[in-house]
Amino acid sequence: MSATTASRRAFLGAGGALAGVFALNQAPAAQAASKTTAAPTPYRVITPGSEQYEDLLQGTNLRWKGTAQRIAFPRTAAETAEELRTVLALGLRPSARSGGHCYENFVANGDNQAIIDTSAMDQVRWDPEMKAFEVGAGAQLGLVYQLLYKQWGVYAPAGNCPTVAAGGHIAGGGYGSMNRRDGLVVDHLLAVEAVHVRADGTVAISRGTRDPRDPHHDLWWSYTGGGGGNFGIATRYWLRSPSASGDQPEKALPAPPRHVWLSTVAWDWAGIDEAAFTRLLSNHGRWHETHSAPGTSEATLFAQLKTWHRSNGSITMDTIIDAGTPDATGILERYLAAVADGIPAPKVLQHRLVPWLQATQWSGFTGPDSTRRFKGKSAYLRRSYTPEAIAAAYRGLSDPSISNPTALLMIASYGGAVNDTAPAATAVPQRDSIIKFQVVSIWDNPEDDNANVAWTRTTYKNMFASTGGVPLPNADADGAFINYADVDLNDQAWNTSGQSSFELYYKSNLPRLKRARSTYDPKGVFSHAQSIPLA
Ligand SMILES: Cc1cc2nc3c(=O)[nH]c(=O)nc-3n(C[C@H](O)[C@H](O)[C@H](O)COP(=O)(O)OP(=O)(O)OC[C@H]3O[C@@H](n4cnc5c(N)ncnc54)[C@H](O)[C@@H]3O)c2cc1C
Repeated sequence: MSATTASRRAFLGAGGALAGVFALNQAPAAQAASKTTAAPTPYRVITPGSEQYEDLLQGTNLRWKGTAQRIAFPRTAAETAEELRTVLALGLRPSARSGGHCYENFVANGDNQAIIDTSAMDQVRWDPEMKAFEVGAGAQLGLVYQLLYKQWGVYAPAGNCPTVAAGGHIAGGGYGSMNRRDGLVVDHLLAVEAVHVRADGTVAISRGTRDPRDPHHDLWWSYTGGGGGNFGIATRYWLRSPSASGDQPEKALPAPPRHVWLSTVAWDWAGIDEAAFTRLLSNHGRWHETHSAPGTSEATLFAQLKTWHRSNGSITMDTIIDAGTPDATGILERYLAAVADGIPAPKVLQHRLVPWLQATQWSGFTGPDSTRRFKGKSAYLRRSYTPEAIAAAYRGLSDPSISNPTALLMIASYGGAVNDTAPAATAVPQRDSIIKFQVVSIWDNPEDDNANVAWTRTTYKNMFASTGGVPLPNADADGAFINYADVDLNDQAWNTSGQSSFELYYKSNLPRLKRARSTYDPKGVFSHAQSIPLA
């Protein structure tokens, strides 16, 4: 029996449960006709046989391809609830998808049989009742930045990749190049609306807010960094800074910089031996140790140091600084001088003043190329790199067993305003780190999967060899980032620290997250390789 036939039989078997949802491979004429009648246009459901079906089984990381039988695009929370009821009635396992940028196969895998994709909920508008900006879960960050800035002159300090969507990104505690200036996006999250399944199997739509008296306060808190796919399906977020007062949209979120200085410098690997590499990372770590306090002028500077595999030929560093910061160019020059101190001078590839909105489209910080295959593993650092980490990084980057010019350590500045919030105030507990980095490999051919995955695993494990192969929270490190999901943290071959992935991601916030999952997904309807355990 073909997949198409199987899914059609399952579909027909659901009988009346599907009334009003029908959209299975509708012919264009039928759709056009439905537009002219009073009946509401059904939301789209893509099934095997649809032209785009095969493509929609994949997200950004081309390593993963799912086998879902239904991919639905509801346009409201009510339609999301309707679709979830349908999926459950069909006996299918659902999964939420927004931007499709998951590092691991939490959505695209052989177990998830239905994808509820929020792409059609991509609105960004001022909600006068909530006195906050409503952002649909499907809204991609590039659109969010554009609409917030063009209409109201504000922004939310979220991630750098314009095609990551709010749905999974905010749920995972999204961060980006403005976090040292204005905190994490979740520090500005006022409320979330989510569709979830109660213990009795009924589907509910709940809204949780930052107000601790709200009966759904824990729903809000779970979405401040608990990770996507754990607490039902977020359909809308509302953004408003805790410090905002009044009902003017222009005052509800921070204003971004008007202009930023962008710069890129590059070192020729040929001039970097182990001593110079050690000096480069030590310089970089020391600067962050001394310049990552909240509220300082230096906290408006963010850098991404990319120590590429030696086969690339270069090590590069991209920086961005709010041009409105007093002495912005002086801070940038001193930063570059401090990092390059005692090693060969880098070549300046660019140094330009750019309007902030244009800079949000800059590829300097956007992360793994979203048209390729990749594996990433993350770590928070509370202070500069240990000698063990530097030596292992050097070995990995010089490893001749792979020759991949897009394997690298992607090292991001952290701290600043992020560290002005208490570890339990949101679900993101890492509130005194100064650096967040990833060991990443990016490649194209499936035949190269094993070599690249092995390289990231080994390099990362060696960097944290004395703490079980992972950034065990201690004086130097502080765990890992759920938005850079890494299933190896569950695997004793790669994590012998005695701490689970959950402890590395959530630390002391884990018990509350378990309780929240037991409230908002008590039957474990949404499930993936790193779903938070039920309490
Ligand atoms: C190229 C690239 C650049 C990135 N840059 C950054 C960055 O600058 N900063 C940063 O913090 N992160 C960054 N990330 C990581 C990104 O934030 C996470 O992968 C995030 O989970 C992606 O969300 P998504 O909706 O796009 O992905 P999806 O793959 O759709 O979802 C990811 C996870 O969230 C769940 N989920 C999706 N939608 C919902 C929803 N509406 N409700 C509940 N759960 C949902 C999914 O089931 C899945 O488990 C980047 C990733 C990539 C690939």
